[in-house]
Amino acid sequence: MKQKEILVAGGAGFVGSHLCRRLLDDGHKVICIDNLHTGQLNNIESLLKYPGYTFIKHDIIYPFKYDGHLNEIYNLACPASPKDYQAQPIQTIKTSVIGTMNLLNLAENNHCTFLQASTSEVYGDAEIHPQSENYWGNVNPIGIRACYDEGKRCAESLCMDYHRQFGTKVKIIRIFNTYGPNMRVDDGRVISNFIVQALRGDDITIYGDGRQTRSFQYIDDLLSGISKMMQTSDDFTGPVNIGNPDEYSILELAEMILQLTNSPSKLETHPMPIDDPKCRRPDISLATTMLNGWKPKIGLEEGLKGTIEYFKEIHKPISA
Ligand code: NAD
Ligand code: UDP
Repeated sequence: MKQKEILVAGGAGFVGSHLCRRLLDDGHKVICIDNLHTGQLNNIESLLKYPGYTFIKHDIIYPFKYDGHLNEIYNLACPASPKDYQAQPIQTIKTSVIGTMNLLNLAENNHCTFLQASTSEVYGDAEIHPQSENYWGNVNPIGIRACYDEGKRCAESLCMDYHRQFGTKVKIIRIFNTYGPNMRVDDGRVISNFIVQALRGDDITIYGDGRQTRSFQYIDDLLSGISKMMQTSDDFTGPVNIGNPDEYSILELAEMILQLTNSPSKLETHPMPIDDPKCRRPDISLATTMLNGWKPKIGLEEGLKGTIEYFKEIHKPISA
């Protein structure tokens, strides 16, 4: 395979660090830019040994200058956990809007392919179930999740406008809840929260009645979807849903994690966050058709086992 020069924005985060490793293992040169807002240096420590890897601390809300010639840009830069993006909403909007525009300009100057990590959040509190790409969504534009949801929606608009106006090669994927090693202990998302709470023997924080649903995808399945999306022809922009259609209630998730960790933790009810979507499940028929038969392969129980092992390593439970 021909060696490519690839920029990964947000490469010190959960998904980005896995993507960088995969690209390096495939023999490519990777330039990771990240402002370390929600990323972690320990995610990239093991990548520094690859001769083809460069890390540059940079905030994408400012233009990034690069002297070489890029073949691909992956834009993963954006806090993804509600706790993180709601803590700095204006920075979140700037990242999705100004940051994405800066990277699209870079893609345009390099005549390279640009992949945008969009999200199932563009569907908001969906009234159509499961969600397919032709559903335009139900987002509260002035709510506390809007900095993320509307920022990502605007980023999709920008991608399509660059494509139509300048012919930029863009690819948009709408990622559904993804989990795995390299998530932060204090990330605030449901799987990291529940695993850490279960390992510590703390109460499991169920928001609302726990009957809201999500469809959880293991990181490896997302990576194979990203790779197949990049291999599609230049005229295929997406958006494409990348997620696992197996849907679970939050209570079912909690029970599974308690059982897999053999934890004595008890369930504790907390108020439901504002605008929390009631259900989410991807329709992946477009992905399966366009991405060469792509389908997630790793079920929730198997993926959770791998993730639990990771958290056990980095966070020694009290009982260990
Ligand atoms: P993450 O928070 O672990 O990673 C995001 C990374 O982007 C971090 O390293 C952070 O420091 C960096 N970053 C944030 N703002 C930046 C800026 N202005 N300039 C440079 N770097 C910046 O989140 P993640 O789960 O790895 O998500 C990666 C991408 O995938 C995000 O764009 C997110 O919206 C998207 N996504 C993720 C999921 C999921 O379930 N993990 C679901 C849907 C979409
Ligand atoms: N959630 C929960 N307890 C937690 C964290 C999250 O019950 O400690 C719920 C949350 O209300 C939501 C779901 O789990 O319904 C998924 O939340 P997460 O923050 O992981 O991602 P979201 O899909 O909301 O962006």
